[in-house]
Amino acid sequence: MLCVMRSPEELSALFRAQGRKITAQRQCIFRVLHGDVSHPTAESIHAAAKAQMETISLKTVYQTLHELSAMGEIAALDLGTGMTRFDPNVDGVHHHLVCRGCGKVRDLHADFSTVTVPSGAAEGFDVGQAEVVFRGRCRECRRARTAPSRRVKVTAKT
Ligand SMILES: [Zn+2]
Ligand SMILES: [Zn+2]
Repeated sequence: MLCVMRSPEELSALFRAQGRKITAQRQCIFRVLHGDVSHPTAESIHAAAKAQMETISLKTVYQTLHELSAMGEIAALDLGTGMTRFDPNVDGVHHHLVCRGCGKVRDLHADFSTVTVPSGAAEGFDVGQAEVVFRGRCRECRRARTAPSRRVKVTAKT
């Protein structure tokens, strides 16, 4: 199985075990995160959670995401899309495909274990792993590009 993430019930149990508060709002955020492979932003998690529970605030979402990343249950990634992306898939090393057009992020499971730092270039770092980010254009953005461009009528205001 490639994508391993804890179920909402497991996350709730973990939170409780650490003496953290478990609220209906938090459980809703766990449910939203579960199975989300889009590497959502805090804002999109908030939007999805709000659709299920009107009372969820963005602050609660931020707080919960912060705690989950402190616990190592999600990863907060800066993939150059302008916003922090949250990745609930923290089981082992994986890589990312990032669309330059729309900022879409997808997991990439491939073996890049031969990617190494050239000898003498590690600046004293003991390098453990490499995460590779591939940038390009997703299928939708490529389609949008090749579709005949629609004419936009521009009316000049004087
Ligand atoms: Zn795209
Ligand atoms: Zn990922």
